[in-house]
Amino acid sequence: MNMLFKTLPKIDHSDFQRILKIIPEPVIVTDTNPCIVYVNPALEKLTGYKLAELVGKNPRILKSGKTPETVYQRLYRALTGGKSFSTREVINKRKDGSLYQIDASYVPIVTGGKTVFYVQIQHDITAHKKAEAELAGHAAELEKMNKSKDEFIYFASHTLRTPLSAVAWSIERLSEDNDGYSAKQQKSLNLIYDQTQRMIKLTNDLLDATRMEFGVLAYKYEETNPQTVASNVIIDLKDRIRKKKIKFKFTSGKDIRAYKTYSNAIYMILHNLLSNAVKFTPIGGKVGLKISKTEIELILQVSDSGIGIPRSAQEKIFQKMYRAQNVKDKFEGSGLGLYIISGIISHMGGKISVESKQGKGTTFTVWLPVTKGGIYE
Ligand code: ADP
Repeated sequence: MNMLFKTLPKIDHSDFQRILKIIPEPVIVTDTNPCIVYVNPALEKLTGYKLAELVGKNPRILKSGKTPETVYQRLYRALTGGKSFSTREVINKRKDGSLYQIDASYVPIVTGGKTVFYVQIQHDITAHKKAEAELAGHAAELEKMNKSKDEFIYFASHTLRTPLSAVAWSIERLSEDNDGYSAKQQKSLNLIYDQTQRMIKLTNDLLDATRMEFGVLAYKYEETNPQTVASNVIIDLKDRIRKKKIKFKFTSGKDIRAYKTYSNAIYMILHNLLSNAVKFTPIGGKVGLKISKTEIELILQVSDSGIGIPRSAQEKIFQKMYRAQNVKDKFEGSGLGLYIISGIISHMGGKISVESKQGKGTTFTVWLPVTKGGIYE
């Protein structure tokens, strides 16, 4: 080790000065008063001051009045305690009055147990800070635009829903009073009815999606038996199930009892999964619903023997408005259902997963935590 040192050249005072001169970062050296004793050319360039203008001056000549006073208090405490200090909060003023922000490190130089100099190394972060502020501004602007877009969608859906419901209601009345429509007229009436129902479903999905995003979806927290909720969903879908001659199987554990939870959320989850299963399963296929539980979770499983989901689409189907290639143009839908229920499920602290094989079928599994005071009491 000693041998190695003996072979190294010695660095003297003038070498250090030359090194300081070529360092690209601005450097200020002060005594303990503190008065500036040296600044390097990088600092001259940054501030517009020449070395001769600064030597002997207090570094406060660079103060802008924009740096929080607490920063100087912390700096003073650190340096007088013989410690280094770093901050990104210092805003200084150049000779021409313009401001610049620095990432600064202050280091006391101690000789023989006594501080003799303070060295300040600066890194100009003005451009970086400006870019950061601009980015934050853009992000806030985007968020504002997004919010007003969502508000517009909410308003439009809300406004559309009432007249659409009135149209659907009127068509139902017309069909009921039917005494003498030709087959052609009845067909047109059915078509208008179906299309109106489609628009109502879309406006409802848009409303639910924006309500979920705004965090204003009304959750009904009440004593609920998931079996009863499931039966209500099945009743709702029974015409579709019958029309497609689907073999439907509902199994539920005997130990499933009522507990306090968001009843309408469970309804929405099951309604979405089951109506998808029926929609994407060909005539004569199979759809199943199984409800079970563990010590801590309620498990809802919806499976079908339908068209399945391409592997590459499986991780995207929970995204807003995503629809897999094999359903586009063949099946109606908004691509909002899974997005809405996955938001609801995570609001409830649960999770959802999918297993699927194209052409064979799909199984969705939902785990919902059973809250304290719930199912097992
Ligand atoms: P959609 O209104 O299209 O049904 P969802 O958000 O409910 O929208 O579902 C998103 C996409 O996930 C569907 O468009 C479809 O590609 C796929 N998908 C969901 N459920 C099934 C299923 N049971 N079988 C096949 N594909 C499904």
